Amino acid sequence: MTMLEGRTGKWEVVIGLEVHAQVISNAKLFSGASTEFGAAPNSQVSFVDSAMPGMLPVLNERCVAQAVRTGLALGAAINLHSVFARKNYFYPDLPQGYQISQYEEPIIGEGEILIDLADGETKPVGIERLHMEQDAGKSLHDQSPNQSFIDLNRSGVALMEIVSKPDMRSADEASAYVTKLRSILRYIGACDGNMQEGSLRCDANVSVRKPGGELGTRCEIKNVNSLRFLRQAIEYEAMRQIEIIEDGGKIDQETRLFDAGKGETRSMRSKEEAHDYRYFPDPDLLPLELTPDFVEAQRATLPELPDEKKARFMADYGLSPYDAGVLVAERETADFFEAVAKGRDAKLAANWVISELFGRLNKAGRDVTDSPVSAESLGGLVDLIADRTISGSIAKKVFDEMFESGREAADIVEEQGLKQVTDTGAIEGIIDQVLADNADKVAEYRGGKDKLFGFFVGQVMRASQGKANPQLVNELLRRKLDG
Ligand code: ADP
Ligand code: MG
Repeated sequence: MTMLEGRTGKWEVVIGLEVHAQVISNAKLFSGASTEFGAAPNSQVSFVDSAMPGMLPVLNERCVAQAVRTGLALGAAINLHSVFARKNYFYPDLPQGYQISQYEEPIIGEGEILIDLADGETKPVGIERLHMEQDAGKSLHDQSPNQSFIDLNRSGVALMEIVSKPDMRSADEASAYVTKLRSILRYIGACDGNMQEGSLRCDANVSVRKPGGELGTRCEIKNVNSLRFLRQAIEYEAMRQIEIIEDGGKIDQETRLFDAGKGETRSMRSKEEAHDYRYFPDPDLLPLELTPDFVEAQRATLPELPDEKKARFMADYGLSPYDAGVLVAERETADFFEAVAKGRDAKLAANWVISELFGRLNKAGRDVTDSPVSAESLGGLVDLIADRTISGSIAKKVFDEMFESGREAADIVEEQGLKQVTDTGAIEGIIDQVLADNADKVAEYRGGKDKLFGFFVGQVMRASQGKANPQLVNELLRRKLDG
């Protein structure tokens, strides 16, 4: 277990996350206005979204379907009966004066996410609930020195708030949780997971306690919009709380903000100042009643999920938990790998996809969907390695060239004469030359300086421009030097 070290000994960090995920749907939760990102301000606002008097919300079935699909993907209880409630507060970008949300009776109950940890282990993290709610608009303070503007395009867009149990014990686990949740949401197409654009935002509840003690008082850090900030915010906040307690103080339950510039959290409001939202069931909306058939119809739309895929990759392809986890993180990546691995040595294919292709794509700032080397082409390269036409080190050079030019491995090998030399006679010729050129070293080697063997291998490989089959070089050299 990860512990933090304080003056008075070890401390355990306890984290629960509340994630807001924007639902993928053409229209908003209660209106027909478009949800497209990046449109001109206030160009996607219906009378419902701007809260004109007398307008009535009409629930978007697609959004309900997405919430149910998410609940099923999280192995969660689907509540056939749920209730929309008004959450009342004033904010300039909330024209209704309340948000339609769900409170005591959410659409989704308890579930679980298996998070993948660095050592290949997994850990279950409980889901407390998932409810649907409307997003608010956006206040723009940076357009003018003395005025603020309101953009209501986001007003009324459907969000799912996914609340975890306080089951995480480190910044790493919190980050792994968001990563896995994001992966699942993207697999099922319920949320695009784009943290930069704000489609996935997260509030972190953090407390500390002595190992095994009672849960401590928590602080909630609002609106963390990247995994890096999430880690920083948790680590900073945990140490802040530890120092206060060790100095004899106590933690006030409060809402805090993470200042990314300073890398610290600071108080936003205390519990006493906390909003009283005066929740009550929205009189404009009937309770939401789902039929078991509707739920089953949603289940039928779910793809193979990341955990299932990972298990299958380990069983069918013999991959390690780590490699399988990397490959299934994105659906597109998993599909790409399967296309390369089909009918080939899967471990070799996995290696090339993970180490070489991902490395190059990362450097180029691209992803697998616009890879200059297609799965078929990479498969062609893997074939040349598997049948020993080229060696592993030559293959890397060929791959670089494929990445630059988009050409096929076989063409590059042919054109540049890169075929591996497996002709014993040819290799023996090179060896004889190398030994003749280095007679002094040969004498030293025979005099007991074993380490020189590597030097001879290197010279022979160099003389063959990397094309000599390394096993043969080793074998033949041994025979000539030791025999
Ligand atoms: P509230 O009803 O005040 O919103 P919840 O019980 O719903 O509080 O918890 C909100 C979030 O805070 C959940 O993600 C939960 O896991 C987390 N949480 C609750 N207690 C603690 C604690 N002592 N330390 C850290 N996180 C906590
Ligand atoms: Mg709560």
